Amino acid sequence: MRPTMLLDTPETAQTVTPTADQLLAELLPCRAYDPELWFAEHTAEVERAKALCQACPAVEPCLAGALERGEPWGVWGGQVLIGGVVVPTKRGRGRPPKNRAA
Ligand code: SF4
Repeated sequence: MRPTMLLDTPETAQTVTPTADQLLAELLPCRAYDPELWFAEHTAEVERAKALCQACPAVEPCLAGALERGEPWGVWGGQVLIGGVVVPTKRGRGRPPKNRAA
């Protein structure tokens, strides 16, 4: 049997061809990294998700879709959405500091 015959069968072709999920994982940061980052509670993590979105080829349709669906929360298309609306940033939990820098 010649070696390439192993690649000729449908069963082995499946193993050498990337799946749609694998391709998406390479293209979309929210698939390549922990998806929980896009729904994080801490502001620093949310800002990291926003920054990672900037390298995503789907940033514009992602945001448009999220706005159309009225996503209740999370980072979509590099923006923070809360209640289907883009907000500047997600506040962390708890009371804001008394001496907030201007
Ligand atoms: S822009 Fe959308 S699809 Fe791309 S990484 Fe951000 S959340 Fe994921």
